[in-house]
Amino acid sequence: MSDTARQWLERIRALGLRRPVKIMNVCGGHERCIGQAGLRAALPAAIELIPGPGCPVCICPEETIHQAIRLALTKTITLVAFGDMLRVPVNAPKGEIRSLDQARAAGADIRPIASPLDAVRLARRMPERQVVFFAAGFETTTAPVAAMLAQGVPENLSVLLAGRLTWPAVAMLLDTGRAAFDALIAPGHVSTVMGPEEWWFVPEKHGIPAAVAGFSPESLLAAIWSVLRQRIEGACFLDNCYPELVRPGGNPGARRQLETVMRVVDAPWRGIGSIAASGFALRDAYRAQDAEARFPLPAGAPRKRAGEMPPGCDCARVVLGEIYPDACRLYGRACTPRAPAGPCMVSDEGACRIWWSSGTRSGVARVG
Ligand code: SF4
Repeated sequence: MSDTARQWLERIRALGLRRPVKIMNVCGGHERCIGQAGLRAALPAAIELIPGPGCPVCICPEETIHQAIRLALTKTITLVAFGDMLRVPVNAPKGEIRSLDQARAAGADIRPIASPLDAVRLARRMPERQVVFFAAGFETTTAPVAAMLAQGVPENLSVLLAGRLTWPAVAMLLDTGRAAFDALIAPGHVSTVMGPEEWWFVPEKHGIPAAVAGFSPESLLAAIWSVLRQRIEGACFLDNCYPELVRPGGNPGARRQLETVMRVVDAPWRGIGSIAASGFALRDAYRAQDAEARFPLPAGAPRKRAGEMPPGCDCARVVLGEIYPDACRLYGRACTPRAPAGPCMVSDEGACRIWWSSGTRSGVARVG
């Protein structure tokens, strides 16, 4: 740990906290940094750091994954997706395909990509095939998809979009009284794109301290110190502890492209249900690139169980910050990164995988 991080720790310890404080983050990058730097063990016991809705792969609706599997199994289609999505398990009767990885093993042409540009290049290389880009992600991942479409794509490339906004999930938790936190660490990358203003509602409407943090122990500890100070002084505001990259208004170019190509709609989150104004959908002008319009479900096709996690999997409660990953009965037993039972153990941004990879086996205090 750097000298600066140690100094922040000293400042936090000097606050002399007596009552427990629960601080939620909503970013897989934050959770990974917390785990790798061992911040939970280093902080005073009164401070609980709770991972919240910070993994877009974990909440991608089953229905959309089923649709991706269906498209991938179509002979004329090549499906591309970010690597995490390939292993996400869905509910399916025994013997049926349960993930894109299994579809690939069954002969589907599925390729992992690292960026939207890879999808464009592949579509250009294979003009005889239909290429479907399964694009699941939060604002930071969805903005480059919007940029790709705004710039124009080959006719044989379409997008199966599962883009989501992060702040509406936090707003839903606060509006419905389900929030299990006293302060919020707001996501740095999302704020870089969308602007920190999106998070003003946390202190202004709900009187809860908030701070935007970057992806280093120093920035996270500065944000933790800020929200604790805000609580102690009884003065809530949104602090920017990532000023190197987070500017008022975010990235105007990226926001303009999102606005041009997509509209905001109510959207389902796996295991949670529909959250108002939390999803991106393609505008009518981009309907020709919409995979759902280009390859509609056949009439009478069964609707899959969009809202459900696999049996016994507590990902929904983990994502909402209601329990820690190791409170799930399957954690480390029937569910490990090698054989994940639920989506939170698949993705690099999933709390269960991050905890397991950081060496947490059991014994952390429970939320609640
Ligand atoms: S440990 Fe596995 S089954 Fe349990 S919540 Fe996490 S991903 Fe789901």
